[in-house]
Amino acid sequence: MTGEVTGVYGRLGVRPLINANAWLTRLGGSLMPPEVIEAMREASAAFVDMHELQRAVSSRIAQLTRNEAALVCSGASAGLVLATLACMTGRDLRALGRLIQLGVGTLPKRDVIVHCGQRTPYDPAIVLAGGRLVQIGNVIQTFEWELQAAIGPATAAVLYLPGEIYSRGALPLERVLAIAHAAGVPVIVDAAAQLPPPENLWRFAEMGADLVLFSGGKALRGPQASGLIVGKPDMVAACEMHAAPHQRLGRPMKVGKEEMCGLLAAVELYLAQDHAARTAEIERITAAWVETLGALPGVCARRDFPSEAGQPLPRARLDLEPSLGLTSGDVRAALLAGEPPIDVAVSGERAVLLNAALLKPGEETIVTDRVAEALRRP
Ligand SMILES: *Cc1c(COP(=O)(O)O)cnc(C)c1O
Repeated sequence: MTGEVTGVYGRLGVRPLINANAWLTRLGGSLMPPEVIEAMREASAAFVDMHELQRAVSSRIAQLTRNEAALVCSGASAGLVLATLACMTGRDLRALGRLIQLGVGTLPKRDVIVHCGQRTPYDPAIVLAGGRLVQIGNVIQTFEWELQAAIGPATAAVLYLPGEIYSRGALPLERVLAIAHAAGVPVIVDAAAQLPPPENLWRFAEMGADLVLFSGGKALRGPQASGLIVGKPDMVAACEMHAAPHQRLGRPMKVGKEEMCGLLAAVELYLAQDHAARTAEIERITAAWVETLGALPGVCARRDFPSEAGQPLPRARLDLEPSLGLTSGDVRAALLAGEPPIDVAVSGERAVLLNAALLKPGEETIVTDRVAEALRRP
């Protein structure tokens, strides 16, 4: 990958980078397999009725993912907007009419309850939909009575983030579902980055979650601007009621025919993939990094688990001893300044994290060499 950059990025003078960090939107999310690109190319060759296409793709994805209903959206963040709107109006056309003519302020149910420890940078999607975030608990703990007490006539939904990194201080999903449903309140599960394991595509809905959101452009390796909503048929239908191509509040988050067909191809591929073999490959690269880079003076390396959003995948964690004279920020900056640039995650002043899950074949040795070079004492 070193040397002159060709193709569209070369013509633009934009430098492609190696992503040893995570499925991050700011880095372009993920890379689509050829089958996904081919599905998008085929979809681009004809006009279709977009309602008909959405119905056909969604019912196929629902079937594949063992869900009762599905809807393709333009990303998990867009899914949060549509899910919030759906929980505020249900399938009530009078509420939809008021929403479009008078704005969200006229709707009686707008509160979305969220655990303090599950606040994320994606929360503004709820605010965009006109939801009001009501926080419960603290970073250490949340009591069941706090959720019960927060639920009232203005409650539209409870938002829940599964995954190990969001579990600290939060009630278990089972209890949230039981308490919310006893009060007639739907639960939205934001599982945007909770793949693998592939079973998560149906697990949360099977537990009883009303709406579950996934990114199409992370581990699924679908189009970057795609996402998936699955869940209860009436709630998914309520999401569809707000979504493009209807001329309603979801219209700015439209999904193209190319994204719909691309996401379907991505889901098919993802479910057919040998996940155990893929995980073994990531373990192998991680172990090699730990061994090679841990042998450098001033560096202590180990396998870190789970991955950045709590996915059951390893990363290599490099702890930098103060004697090294380098901070994690120095290492990160050196890797980004080199050719090709390499993006890595850091944790605090002294730890660098390397993720093998997004590498193209052969990139792991480039990462090994370049990180070793960056870790040499200044
Ligand atoms: C990535 C992510 C999102 C946003 O997903 P997009 O598909 O990029 O819109 C939302 N919520 C969580 C928890 C995420 O990790």
